[in-house]
Amino acid sequence: MTATPAYDPNNIFAKILRGELPAHKVYEDEKAIAFLDIMPRCPGHTLVIPKAPARNILDIAPDDLAHVAKVAKKVAVAAKAAFAADGVTVQQFNEEAGGQVVFHLHIHVIPRHAGEAMKP
Ligand code: ADP
Repeated sequence: MTATPAYDPNNIFAKILRGELPAHKVYEDEKAIAFLDIMPRCPGHTLVIPKAPARNILDIAPDDLAHVAKVAKKVAVAAKAAFAADGVTVQQFNEEAGGQVVFHLHIHVIPRHAGEAMKP
């Protein structure tokens, strides 16, 4: 088992939070933002992230996780309606071995339509 590395402030989502990279924001409050995924696996694919510098679920403070989960619910309900979807896939990856590529905690919210496959 490897130790969880320290948070790296040079990750892409930290740059979005600092305004150094553009993003199409669909939600913002004092502790979280949501923005469209640059390579959507389905139309409306949105990422929800905490403003706190958390690498993933392994190091985020429980209160920050609770808040980002509440925002993911709001985004899921709104995206399902906006995209007239039949369902929503919610995914979250932790560390490279867990499928994580960008090391700032994010929750994928992906509107789904019956019978339509998600891009890999
Ligand atoms: P995976 O790529 O396996 O889903 P992650 O859960 O780490 O791994 O997801 C990173 C997500 O961030 C990807 O869906 C990718 O398309 C998205 N992404 C990368 N760069 C940007 C960006 N600048 N703006 C919006 N989304 C981004």
